[in-house]
Amino acid sequence: MSERSGAGGELVPPAAIGFIGLGQMGIPMAHQLLRAGYIVNAFDAAEAARANFEAVTGTAAEESAAAACHHVAAVITMLPDGKIVRDVLLGVGDEVGALAAAEPGTIFIDMSSSSPVDTRALAAALQPDGYAVVDAPVSGGVKRALDGSLAIMAGGAAATVERVRPLLSAMGSAVFATGPLGSGHAMKALNNYVSAAGLVAAAEAILVGRRFGLDPGTIVDVLNASTGRNNSTEKKMKQQVLSGDFASGFSLALMTKDLHTAAGIARHAGIAAPLAEVCEDLWAEADTKLGAGADHTEIYRFLAGLQAGGEDKP
Ligand code: NAD
Repeated sequence: MSERSGAGGELVPPAAIGFIGLGQMGIPMAHQLLRAGYIVNAFDAAEAARANFEAVTGTAAEESAAAACHHVAAVITMLPDGKIVRDVLLGVGDEVGALAAAEPGTIFIDMSSSSPVDTRALAAALQPDGYAVVDAPVSGGVKRALDGSLAIMAGGAAATVERVRPLLSAMGSAVFATGPLGSGHAMKALNNYVSAAGLVAAAEAILVGRRFGLDPGTIVDVLNASTGRNNSTEKKMKQQVLSGDFASGFSLALMTKDLHTAAGIARHAGIAAPLAEVCEDLWAEADTKLGAGADHTEIYRFLAGLQAGGEDKP
């Protein structure tokens, strides 16, 4: 413990960290840990992702999730959702999960955008065996993962969150302790609901405004100087949508999952959230129509297709 912990038990470099999930976000996040001086045992199920990690960081990837969990102080998961996190750690059917390779005392930090309900169920399975769990999802996208300036919302026992704070701070510029286990994942889903609703509102405004002779660029400029401004009008509309790039690095499928989580936790809490439900249905329909691989900013293309006359050009 002493060689991998600070005075208060904080995980400071050169602590060894397992990192599972080397996708759009995982690679730049793991890279930040390496730059900060942590030892990173990284793994992804896809060979191409492991090769990409090695090319970007110059560090060899592990050959299994179990190897990533062996002899480390903490394991970070950055996977599509909480069900996959559970399958990797606990195994499916007779398969032995990666958890078996971890020592008791290891802290599991799920930085994926998982459902808080799944997270609490996972912790109930892990904690009796002496493992600690923190949910620490992120916001800011690939760009902010690349420069280590993500917003991170960490749920879990306060003392455990403080122990992993140095690690999280290597990947993010704002680390919020959000409260009990699952609160980070709830916050993340709610954030993405607000973000998705803002993107749809901006896209609809452009599609409608064009029919009234407004230039799309002018619409964005006016919104950005007015009260309709939001993150999508500022950072996505010209850059990803009007340019026709649709390459933000965050898939439409993952946003659809987040909306399902947000609407689901409202239902779970018995709180009416009618707009969240409309967004959940709209994005699910877009996901079916546009298929795997669509960027979340392509919701604009889906909305354009709903207009009389069909698909519109940005
Ligand atoms: P991604 O699809 O690019 O990467 C996911 C990685 O997980 C892939 O490399 C895949 O091979 C790997 N994987 C899947 N199943 C696996 C398994 N069983 N074992 C090991 N590896 C497995 O996704 P991403 O964009 O990096 O997102 C990761 C998480 O972060 C998601 O929960 C997402 O919602 C969230 N998120 C993404 C962004 C973004 O801008 N991309 C921003 C914030 C949060």
